[in-house]
Amino acid sequence: MAVKRPKAEPFKIKMVEPIKMISKEEREEALEKAGHNLFSLKSDDVYIDLLTDSGTGAMSDKQWSGIMLGDEAYSGSRNYFNLANTVKEIIGYNYTIPTHQGRGAEQVLFPVLIKPGQYCISNMHFDTTKAHVELAEGRAVNTVIDEAYDTTTYHPFKGNFDLEKTEEVIKEKGAENVAMVIITVTCNSAGGQPISMENIKATYELAKKYDLPVVIDAARFAENAYFIKQREEGYEDKTIAEIIKETFKYGDAFTMSAKKDAIVNIGGVLGVKDDEELYNACRSRTVPLEGFPTYGGLAGRDMEALARGLVEGCQEEYLEYRINQVHYLGERLKEAGIPIQYPVGGHAVFVDAKKMLPHIPYYHFPAQALANALYLESGVRSVEIGSLLLGRDPDTGENLESPLELLRLTIPRRVYTNDHMDVIADGLIAVKEKAKDLVGLDFTYEPEILRHFTARLKPVK
Ligand SMILES: *Cc1c(COP(=O)(O)O)cnc(C)c1O
Repeated sequence: MAVKRPKAEPFKIKMVEPIKMISKEEREEALEKAGHNLFSLKSDDVYIDLLTDSGTGAMSDKQWSGIMLGDEAYSGSRNYFNLANTVKEIIGYNYTIPTHQGRGAEQVLFPVLIKPGQYCISNMHFDTTKAHVELAEGRAVNTVIDEAYDTTTYHPFKGNFDLEKTEEVIKEKGAENVAMVIITVTCNSAGGQPISMENIKATYELAKKYDLPVVIDAARFAENAYFIKQREEGYEDKTIAEIIKETFKYGDAFTMSAKKDAIVNIGGVLGVKDDEELYNACRSRTVPLEGFPTYGGLAGRDMEALARGLVEGCQEEYLEYRINQVHYLGERLKEAGIPIQYPVGGHAVFVDAKKMLPHIPYYHFPAQALANALYLESGVRSVEIGSLLLGRDPDTGENLESPLELLRLTIPRRVYTNDHMDVIADGLIAVKEKAKDLVGLDFTYEPEILRHFTARLKPVK
């Protein structure tokens, strides 16, 4: 059965950036030079770049024209007020601090909320979020539902908190030893999986039962709202704007990477609902870490593009196209028998490399082998989320086995057309035909920390 044609792009193209597929021989040479690590490729050697959806989106004519309206005053820039008013209008929070990106908001907020030794509970911490919890001498605990770890079973909201598990952690550690609950929407690390409104609300109420602050990690808040409208009973007739407003009702503050749903190439936001004391504490920390609180690491023009991107990223027609495009890629792969995390999340398709290449053991990095094969086949750069990323046990030095060996195909916003999705799908389907001949990889150079970024590898004989 043919996969349903995706929804056509709700925009026309005014400016183009040429991309080019280099020859097979050139791709082989580039991969060799990069030590079989796609992070080390020159982006010019990539045809379709699916490394990340972070900061890789295409801004609109409205955003670009906003760039020309930058007020570069050190303090009180009019673009700051445009941003703060937009946040107030869409999200409903009183206080807005711009930051250079999402992790900037984390580094300002977390030490205010975390006392050394305290726990932070999240459905799933994003990696920089976990790092900032730990830098503030806190400890990160994930309490997402078990279904998040099972790629094949359908669940409409795999990003949900397991409420029982969450309450158990609070009781076991003692509420006074828990700093906050972080609701990650959508749940990036579980494959961009959404969290339901019912679960967001119940999580908030649980936190409030123990008097804990709730922080929303809001990178993909608009995509989450779209999933709620599609999948949750009682929300089919609500507007995206209403769903977003309700989402943020169940939080006290948010940190946001604006490089995702707000469709800018750089930027972040820290928002505080109404707690003036918390806002003041954050504002004071912003000055030495990010900059004066009305620019926080951004130029006036960047804040204008961000304010406008926030509005565009919440439009239902855009979201329908966006989610539909990612879904279409997933359906094409699924139809061809390629195992993927199901249902498909908001910003990426995750291919289960352990299932696709069962003959390659985890310590020879099946998802990395698959990423290399896809690049050689069709010039597509994807990213490994598996044992190469996970690293070694700090005590024994053994390679750790990741519960999932995933190849992530992350789709930038408004950048590639639906035809590009077919190129990606055809490439991976061609790789599937040769799957049993693919071999794993071994290190020729292994850095001690964050090895996946700079490691060099070679195919095992
Ligand atoms: C990207 C991301 C962050 C960090 O934001 P940066 O802009 O990359 O600093 C935090 N949380 C989630 C869920 C993210 O996806």
